[in-house]
Amino acid sequence: MKKILVIEDSHFYQNIMLRALRRYLPHTDFKMIETFNEVKEIIKSKEEFDLVIADINLSDSSGAHIRTLVDANYKVIVITVVDDETFRDEMFAFDIVDYIIKSELQRFEYLIKLIQRLDANESKSVLIVEDSKAVRMFYKRILEKQNLTVFEAEDGQKALKVISEEKIDMILSDYNMPNMDGIEFLKELRTEYSMLDLPFIAISSDNDHTTVARFLKFGANDYLRKPFGKEELICRINNTLDMIDMIQHVKESAITDALTEMYNRHYLYEIAEKIIAQAKRFKYPLSLAIFDIDFFKKINDKYGHTAGDIVLKAFASLLIHRMRESDIVVRYGGEEFIAIFPKTDIKRTFIVIESIRKMVEEMKITIGDEEVISITVSAGIAEYNSEETLDHLIKRADEALYLAKRKGRNRVEMAEG
Ligand code: GH3
Ligand code: MG
Ligand code: MG
Ligand code: MG
Repeated sequence: MKKILVIEDSHFYQNIMLRALRRYLPHTDFKMIETFNEVKEIIKSKEEFDLVIADINLSDSSGAHIRTLVDANYKVIVITVVDDETFRDEMFAFDIVDYIIKSELQRFEYLIKLIQRLDANESKSVLIVEDSKAVRMFYKRILEKQNLTVFEAEDGQKALKVISEEKIDMILSDYNMPNMDGIEFLKELRTEYSMLDLPFIAISSDNDHTTVARFLKFGANDYLRKPFGKEELICRINNTLDMIDMIQHVKESAITDALTEMYNRHYLYEIAEKIIAQAKRFKYPLSLAIFDIDFFKKINDKYGHTAGDIVLKAFASLLIHRMRESDIVVRYGGEEFIAIFPKTDIKRTFIVIESIRKMVEEMKITIGDEEVISITVSAGIAEYNSEETLDHLIKRADEALYLAKRKGRNRVEMAEG
């Protein structure tokens, strides 16, 4: 979110809100105004904002500016002390993004989470599966206000086609539809996509009390029972997306090395199976290299652990830059790294690893204000022999590495076939 307009006439609120927002959104520009008159000037000048956060009661307006802003196509979050149902409905009828009661703002947690959600939504698309065009349009307008890209399908069959053609991040599906109803569609979908791959929010208008249960049992992530308010729809959608992102984040962290930000050994084991299976099936060659920085302990001892970390990051970054898209490189542990080269025999791998060894030797690493050091690395490589396990392949490469160390370090050795 690059630019946010804040409309608030209470200086007390301006201050605490800006402080909270700036803390969580350090790269966002905030413009602060206080009156409807200033709103009109902004609209006239066509100044663009990614979002508007607006108080309802200003010295020269008691809500009319909200309507004006929405009509001018700004995305507006209303912040107010007015907790009145009729008024709330009135505001939602204007297609605002959300309505937040000031006393519920607490430390602005909800507002900040919402802004982060809106940011993340920019790259997400939702497929609406619903037979009534009018209802689809109604959902579409709400979702687009949440920065989501919207695709539409009028039944389950058409939805499956859209999914095969477009990148869809979430599905919002009705139950009663011709050709293929919501439950049939969900069943079909779940043969290929899990609840984490493609979240599904079911909408049921059915009075049959088993519909919701059936949806949930077949793998719906959440449901809405008609009739529901815009606000509920927004909350359910954003909650589901938050949950998926959170799980995704946890999964990513589990396979990422925190220091170097490259993949770790868990990822290696996760992906290797697939790569080995492919090599076997298509009879591709496949090689693996294991690197170990020479006398790394001495670097820690002489310059300190922080310097050691800088060296690891520098080496990791060199490795990543030398790899092709299809190669896999991970931090295997400590100062050891493993690279896998699909469709590459050991001779070709030797040339690549030898060139990396030379680059490492020539690399200058700045560790302090002035201190510049150099390192060397040893490596062992092995080619997959079509029968062994990943562990066995690693073991053979590791034996070659051990040989490189014994022969004096700063060398690359190949394992026998
Ligand atoms: P060799 O040439 O035989 O490989 O000698 P070496 O000193 O590199 O090998 P050794 O296995 O004895 O030492 C590895 C050191 O790496 C010991 C450990 O403290 C250090 N190390 C492991 N992980 C990290 C890390 O994340 N950061 C830093 N700074 N040091 C680490
Ligand atoms: Mg229907
Ligand atoms: Mg080691
Ligand atoms: Mg070492």
